Amino acid sequence: MRTPIVAGNWKMNKTVEQARVLVAELVPGLQAISGVEKVLCPPFTAVMPISAMLTGTGIGLGAQNLHWESSGAFTGEVSPAMVKEFCQYVILGHSERRAYFGETDETVNRRLKAALAVGLTPIVCVGETLAEYEAGVTADVVIRQIVAGLKDLTEEQGRVIVIAYEPVWAIGTGRASTAPAANQVIADMIRLALAGIFGKETAQLIRVQYGGSVTAANAVEFFSQPDIDGALVGGASLKPADFLQIVQAAAR
Ligand code: PEP
Repeated sequence: MRTPIVAGNWKMNKTVEQARVLVAELVPGLQAISGVEKVLCPPFTAVMPISAMLTGTGIGLGAQNLHWESSGAFTGEVSPAMVKEFCQYVILGHSERRAYFGETDETVNRRLKAALAVGLTPIVCVGETLAEYEAGVTADVVIRQIVAGLKDLTEEQGRVIVIAYEPVWAIGTGRASTAPAANQVIADMIRLALAGIFGKETAQLIRVQYGGSVTAANAVEFFSQPDIDGALVGGASLKPADFLQIVQAAAR
């Protein structure tokens, strides 16, 4: 009932020329896979050229961030309308932005509302750090991130968003969560928090991805879990054969 969604987060990788090569390698394979929503999230500089390559392919395009203001003196920032010119999706609150660029639940919330206002599908990232995991406070952290990050959203807006559960200790480390453990966090903590905000029925409709060292080898196990609706993929999204295998594994 929930269409799985797999998004490739390219992070700060690929010049336009390199991005074109990667997309050309991915498009035929991605087009051949149905039953899963497919999204590529290149860096801002590659968004425009890649949007031209993806037109009519059924493959979505996402940005990795946006600013909440619509225009003005915000040097280095990109507005929601600018993203919307080329993209259908946007990643928000990625742990790298939280860790290195001062992103907070409050700024995630501002960006989220701004993204929804222009009609983008936001992929909102939540997840505990290693210290929080070891301290046994995963539930407190992800519930706080959901409640504060999604503050003041309507139920209708809730239905649009995608959540990515990304334990920080699993991102880029090669140390993925186990699939049952990730499913448990999503089912017992994230969906519970979503139910508290939007009601049980809507919470069951919202797609929740897992992210953190997803590979072609472990994807099937993650996607066989009942509450995991696809993945946000970093490193493996830069390897065409691996990414295609991951997307294929998510197809329903
Ligand atoms: C990510 O960047 O969101 C991510 C999950 O990275 P990786 O797959 O490399 O762990």
